[in-house]
Amino acid sequence: MRFELRSVSVHFDNMPALNNISCSLTNPSATIITGPSGAGKTTLLRLLYADILPTKGSVFINGQNSAVISVKQKRSLLRNMGVIFQDSTLIEICTAVENIQYPLIINKVAAGERNKQSLSVLSSLGISHLRDKFPKQLSGGEKHLVALARAIVHKPQIVIADEPTGNLDEKTSIAVASTLKSLSDEGTTIILSTHSTELLSYFTYAEKLYLSDGKIVHHSVGSGRSLLL
Ligand code: ADP
Repeated sequence: MRFELRSVSVHFDNMPALNNISCSLTNPSATIITGPSGAGKTTLLRLLYADILPTKGSVFINGQNSAVISVKQKRSLLRNMGVIFQDSTLIEICTAVENIQYPLIINKVAAGERNKQSLSVLSSLGISHLRDKFPKQLSGGEKHLVALARAIVHKPQIVIADEPTGNLDEKTSIAVASTLKSLSDEGTTIILSTHSTELLSYFTYAEKLYLSDGKIVHHSVGSGRSLLL
């Protein structure tokens, strides 16, 4: 999947969260967005899955301008994506396994296959024992793993993760980082924001964007190459 931002600004309440940025994300394996809190990382990720539109400029997702994408095209785009946030919420009245099956139901996967895929992802994350628990019975870290399972169960082409190891204990962070790394090794494109040097160390080959005050101050496309800004 290709992403291109052309002279993009995003304003919230007339304050710029992103300020006239242009870039193409070209690395099919992984892109990592770093920078201090408030730099605009979440805002940039939200543009990439057309959750928000730029105030100025254009975002192209696979060559399509996100401002003119139809509802049908957006649905099809989201089917190929898995999105996970630090505060991703689960459906309270559904068990872990039912939550994980949600994207498969949307993708009209048959019940038998849904069971197979959701149990397989639970097992690969080492949380099979949580399958019948409701969100209120899970710790914060366990909920996060279930949310990650839900984001990846339908084998999306691309996973977008906003600070996926923020606020997690070390064991859960490692489970999340190694899962994302394995997905990248298997050909899934990973785009994530993080403050964690530990998580960065899993993706040495990634394209990296460093944001500060809504601007890209450094952009390396991976394998040590930097772009002039
Ligand atoms: P980061 O992810 O790097 O911490 P964000 O993209 O969340 O940064 O935020 C960038 C700036 O935009 C911050 O000043 C933040 O307060 C502001 N901002 C982000 N989202 C909103 C919103 N929905 N409403 C108002 N201001 C927002």
